[in-house]
Amino acid sequence: MIANQAVRPTSVRTSDLTRIEVLVPPNVIVSDGFLLFDPKECKRKKFAHMGGVLDRFVRLWSKSDDDLIRFATGYGVLGVDERGRLLSDRTIRDALVGRGRYPQVGREPIHLWLDYSKKFFALLRIAARLRDGQHGDGSDWLTLYPNYVFDGTSIESEKLYVELTIGELVLGSNLRPVLKWSFERVEEPAIVFGFLNTVTLLDGLLFHLMLSVASVKGLAICGSCPTSFEPDTRARRGTIRYCDDCRASGLAHRNSQQRSMKRKTAILQRARSKGK
Ligand SMILES: [Zn+2]
Repeated sequence: MIANQAVRPTSVRTSDLTRIEVLVPPNVIVSDGFLLFDPKECKRKKFAHMGGVLDRFVRLWSKSDDDLIRFATGYGVLGVDERGRLLSDRTIRDALVGRGRYPQVGREPIHLWLDYSKKFFALLRIAARLRDGQHGDGSDWLTLYPNYVFDGTSIESEKLYVELTIGELVLGSNLRPVLKWSFERVEEPAIVFGFLNTVTLLDGLLFHLMLSVASVKGLAICGSCPTSFEPDTRARRGTIRYCDDCRASGLAHRNSQQRSMKRKTAILQRARSKGK
């Protein structure tokens, strides 16, 4: 009798989203405001560190067409059609196993790439400031909501707006609860939060955006460039931290030297004015 049997609860956990598989085209060109590529040429590529891909993606809005091409051939395309609609993971999966149609030409609007890049950039920066007990920067809110006024909004309701914004992005993505009953789950079905094994890059980036905001490591804004990043250890308030790129390029070192010079000059000036 079923009622007397011990009911084994279905496990609910995240799938292996830290190693997602995306389609990467070997050749991409820029033409008439679109990134063009041949979907049939795309290779499946697994990424172990989506966080690093997200870091690069959020810098793209300020970069050149060549940088976009380098990114797309290295990490993949968003997975949208020419009108900007996201392809479903089912469409991609069926096309890969030869059961469905995949778009004949890859044509992704560049304005959409830059728009997502800048929105993700703003969301991460706002989240970094909110985690530090400060209001999000007005210019970042303007990026997300050009028609809203955020002056005088409480920190708590700014957090709610981060929630709502990310929630809406998730609604338009392939992220959802999924029943898994194949491959590694063939013996024991499970409900996981995720998507099918092959997804669009945009899904992977969005998922990692959520991971970054919710990360126990927290977020910090670089003291040299305006990018947010996950610090190695939790940032103490008032401490200036630098992202990996700025540390590697020496910008962080120069920036901290300039700051200490300014501090010393200010101390000297104060001492002089006292002496007068
Ligand atoms: Zn930096």
